[in-house]
This record gives sequence, structure tokens and C-alpha cells, in this order.
Amino acid sequence: MKYGRLAGAGAVELADAERPEPAAGEVTVDLAACGVCGTDLEKLRGNYRSAGILGHEPVGRVAAVGPGVSGASVGDRVFVHHHVPCYACDVCARGDLTFCPTYSKTNLDPGGFAETFRVPAENVRRGAVLRLADAIDWDAGALLEPAGCALTAIRKVGLPTGARAFVLGLGPVGILYARLLKSLGAAWVGGSEVAPLRRAAAERGGIDRVVDPRESGAVERAVADATDGRGVDLAVVATGHPAVMRSGYGLVRRGGTLNLFGLPEPASRLDVDLQELYLRGVRVVPTYATTEPDVRDVHALLADGRLRISDLVTHRRPLAAIAEAFDLAGRPDVAVKVVVTGPAA
Ligand SMILES: [Zn+2]
Ligand SMILES: [Zn+2]
Repeated sequence: MKYGRLAGAGAVELADAERPEPAAGEVTVDLAACGVCGTDLEKLRGNYRSAGILGHEPVGRVAAVGPGVSGASVGDRVFVHHHVPCYACDVCARGDLTFCPTYSKTNLDPGGFAETFRVPAENVRRGAVLRLADAIDWDAGALLEPAGCALTAIRKVGLPTGARAFVLGLGPVGILYARLLKSLGAAWVGGSEVAPLRRAAAERGGIDRVVDPRESGAVERAVADATDGRGVDLAVVATGHPAVMRSGYGLVRRGGTLNLFGLPEPASRLDVDLQELYLRGVRVVPTYATTEPDVRDVHALLADGRLRISDLVTHRRPLAAIAEAFDLAGRPDVAVKVVVTGPAA
């Protein structure tokens, strides 16, 4: 069978592998769709040091079930989480599930961009195989993981009731974050984005105010209008550029929160006046990744229509065209979310 993997010099390639068979406790899944994530692109560019496995937003149909597996049957439509915490160590007990030492050791084999992939027994046992409600199409299913990352972030920062928030960078995950804030009861959510196509997608989803950050003073004016000049309770930086982080910091009210949500460039620095930070009491909270409980909660929001996201998928490309899919995903002028499709689509 075919699967996508990192090739040399910033490229992704199709390779051949033995079609996996499930051992005891494992399942295999035929791919329907897997989103191309910003972190997949950063791995390609060599900016993200982690295991080089690509594809962590997959949905598909259970192909085979190993001995001793309960709760998954051949043919089930499922989302699969690539990483799972152990739920037993003291890191997990504190609630820092994504920092559990087990978390990053678990992964799909050979990754989410494969005709068929194997889900390790540890993932199956800990509930990483989630059956999709009929109302959730493959496109929405492929957005469960990034939406889960946004929900995990929102829970970590603690959304105050009636919060006013601003999201800098309305790529797919920034838009998901903004829509989630609205469906969880934020009083006002604004956002900024350079690419017109992405601003239009953000406007469709009920975000209160969407501005172009290149328009001088537009972001500051939007925030001042919505907060009587005080600043937002929460600014979310859904991009990796230090300059954007700096402007996000400037939008937060005294005692508010700055969430560093996008993967920063390696060795980048945040240049802030520490006395000002101290006196303004701004909490700087970096967050990334998600876990099955939050993905399940996003699934529930999608299943009963409180959250709509499948319109964000603008391009679908088959595995055979994975290089083109990656190219499109890196072009905010033409694409919002790109998914790679497999044999179960
Ligand atoms: Zn992702
Ligand atoms: Zn743990």
C-alpha cells in the first residue's frame, strides 16, 4: 500500500509499505480523510523537531480488529487520536494530559497519510478510536483534532463568562478557535487575517469582526470599539510570528490572558518590557495539542449542530497527489483547509 512520508529537502513523497495487520488489542483503519496541519508543513520545512511522522488528523473506516478489542467493529466510521496520555502518572493526575511522558510516545503506524494505518493497543485501550456520529461528515471529522486543540487551549486559559476575545491569524485552526469561543458563550470575538479568502471564511462563521492587520490601526480600533478601550480578556496568537505575538500582547486588558497557540519559529523571542508585564498582570499561556476527552466534547458540539466547521475544507486531494495537497495547504491565498483522501472516502 501507499503512504506519505517526509522526503529530503522539504518534500513529501509517496512510499510503499506492507499493509498493516492488527495484533492483539490493535485495530487497523482504512483512510477516508486526513487534514494537512500547519505542523506537518513545519516538519517539512525542518522547523519542528519531533518524530517525523506525518498526519495526525485522520478519519476512516475500521478495516480489521485484533483479538481482545471491544468497542470497535469492522466498517465503523471513526476518528483516531494519534497520541494518548496514560491517565495514571502524577502529570496526568494534575490534569496536564498533553505533558504526560507516554503522550508523545504513542503514534499511528505509519502515520495518518496512509491507505491503511495501525492503531497501537495503548491508543485503542485509552479510547483514542472515536466512532463518528452520522451527522459528522468526513470533512468535519478531519477537523476534530485541530478543533480539539482549540478546546484544550480554551479550557487551559479558562474563559471568563461574557469574555471578549481576539484571534490573530485566521488560518483553519484560528477560525476553529474563534467559532468555538462563540459557541461556548464568548460575548464578542474578533480576528485578524491577511489572506482575503480566509477572512471571508471567518466572516461566514459568525465571528463578530474580521479585519486585515495590514490596514494601519485596524486591529487596535476593532478591539478598542468592542471593549471601551480596555483591551480584550483573551488574545489568541494562532500564528508563529513573534511580531504577531507582540501585537497580541498589546491587545490584552490588565489581568487578561495572552494565549500562544501557534507553533513559534525556532529560537524566536518575545520582546516585552518586563515591568510593564508585571504591572499589567497579563498571563502568558502557551498551549498545544489535545486529548480524547476534549475531542469527544467537540464531537458532541458538532453532532448536535452547536458548532459547524466542514465548510472550512476547501480542497481534497487523493493520497497519490499528497505533494500537491501540501503545496496547497501552504498557500493561504487559495486554500483554507486541505485534506488528503484515502480509499474509504
Ligand atoms: Zn494538527
Ligand atoms: Zn500520564
